[in-house]
Amino acid sequence: MQEIVLVVGAGTMGAGIACVAARAGYIVEIVEPDAGARERGKARIERDAARGGDVASLLARIRWSDAIPAASEAAIAIEAVPEQLSLKRSVFAQLAGAIAPQALLATNTSSLSVAEIAQGFAGRDRVIGLHFFNPPVAMKLVEIVEIDETSDETIAAAHAFVERIGKTAVMTADTPGFIVNRVARPYYLQSMRALERGVATIEELDALARAAGFRMGPFELMDLIGLDVNLATSESVYERLRAPRLEPQPMQRALVAQGRLGRKSGCGFYDYANGGPERLDLVPPPPSGDVMDECVTVLGCGPAVDAFAASLARCYSDVRRVENDEMLEEIAPETTVLFDVGDGATDRTELLVELDRELGPDTVIFADAYATDIGVAIKRMRHPERLVGYGILSSLETQAVVEIVDLESSSDDALAVAQELFEALGKSVVLVENVPGLYLGRVVGSIVNEAVIAVQENVATPDDIDLAMRLGVNYPIGPLAWGREIGGARIAHILRRTAKDDGEAFAPHRALWVLDADEESEQFEAEMEIER
Ligand code: NAD
Repeated sequence: MQEIVLVVGAGTMGAGIACVAARAGYIVEIVEPDAGARERGKARIERDAARGGDVASLLARIRWSDAIPAASEAAIAIEAVPEQLSLKRSVFAQLAGAIAPQALLATNTSSLSVAEIAQGFAGRDRVIGLHFFNPPVAMKLVEIVEIDETSDETIAAAHAFVERIGKTAVMTADTPGFIVNRVARPYYLQSMRALERGVATIEELDALARAAGFRMGPFELMDLIGLDVNLATSESVYERLRAPRLEPQPMQRALVAQGRLGRKSGCGFYDYANGGPERLDLVPPPPSGDVMDECVTVLGCGPAVDAFAASLARCYSDVRRVENDEMLEEIAPETTVLFDVGDGATDRTELLVELDRELGPDTVIFADAYATDIGVAIKRMRHPERLVGYGILSSLETQAVVEIVDLESSSDDALAVAQELFEALGKSVVLVENVPGLYLGRVVGSIVNEAVIAVQENVATPDDIDLAMRLGVNYPIGPLAWGREIGGARIAHILRRTAKDDGEAFAPHRALWVLDADEESEQFEAEMEIER
């Protein structure tokens, strides 16, 4: 006998869930009391079903009704009614009376507590959250949410269901925003803070985010999601977690109050009238292949520095390495560009002052602006016009665009050298204001920090967090893997700098060090151990 799935609510999510379950061969009973919504749900399922497989037999497996039946033989019931606690509780109560005692009772809630929805319900061992992503037919991820009483059999059955419908499951605790909606918050919130600080324009920030590997920039994404929907998620996570770092932005509240909701209202961060906004595409120039006859010195050591020096060697005839800060006398006098890489996690002001003293005035000095406050350094330099602050998060290979600090003191020559150097390497540059972490350091660092906090708070395992962020919001790499690539100490340093400006709420979590730890070490395993 085919198994039965009971879906309650045939809106955006319910119709999608019904379609994927029917496609996997389940008989689907779908309940939708609103006649108009029923017609829209049917149309949506027909459209989605037409994407592949035998449409007629898929549709034949779906049975519609306008009320929850008194009795159902479903092995699993999933509610996808609007996000209101009292409504979901009453639906749960009706479902509890309708389904067999061993059947699973699931909710697709995004922001409510699964335990609260099931409050007062006797069979809590069968309660589970199945958090699908929109649109369910296309999105691979399902977050399986367990409450304290959820039994192992229920978890196993939920996994089997998710697998059978061709989705990938991650396990999460019943915490605000679960994994994805929580760990993604800093992407939006920190981007709006950067905009407010005037780091760059909306178009430039979106382009920087895309160049770092995000599928969409934060502002175009908020416009697509709907500013009101995105704000409601931020508010619900904030109201339940009460973490000041996740406080919704007044800027977004103001836009929502003005009715600027994004694409659906014709205007959000961008204006969609007259064919929509022009997207700023920072297409990196093709490497010219020319080798410039200049001496470039790279200061620092480690694999990232090796790779960087190797890239430079393709564009400059004479690339030298000085691995140790104690050996500055080894810097060749003919050096026209000095690239200070450092360890990425230490302020280099003292060293920059020393280099400024030692090097001829025509040498352009590049400094890592994520690690060093360039604004402080120039005040102490005799030739501040030669200093260029750059931002490369982890490796140049994975980043198509480099942030360059827009300092008034920089000479046109120095900025032209920066442009020429990065373009020769096949990278675009964007000029940004000098704030701690610039843009990408601030935004990616905060996402990594949130992921580390989520691990510490037993929301999910590191692997599930990384998988969830790749599948749920298309991150180019899981945030914890990204954090290991950038370095925990580097992220902690960047966030310590932002916290000085923005407040202690933005300080790095003390456990960021685990990203640099030996994964085989006992201490690492103890720190990353999830107790369930
Ligand atoms: P929706 O408004 O599109 O659909 C809800 C449907 O439930 C409507 O058709 C409504 O008529 C129906 N309904 C209302 N009361 C009912 C009842 N008593 N019995 C049966 N049906 C009833 O909402 P949605 O976007 O599909 O969201 C549903 C749930 O999924 C919410 O909990 C939401 O938080 C969650 N969710 C939404 C998204 C998303 O992006 N839309 C993503 C993940 C999870």
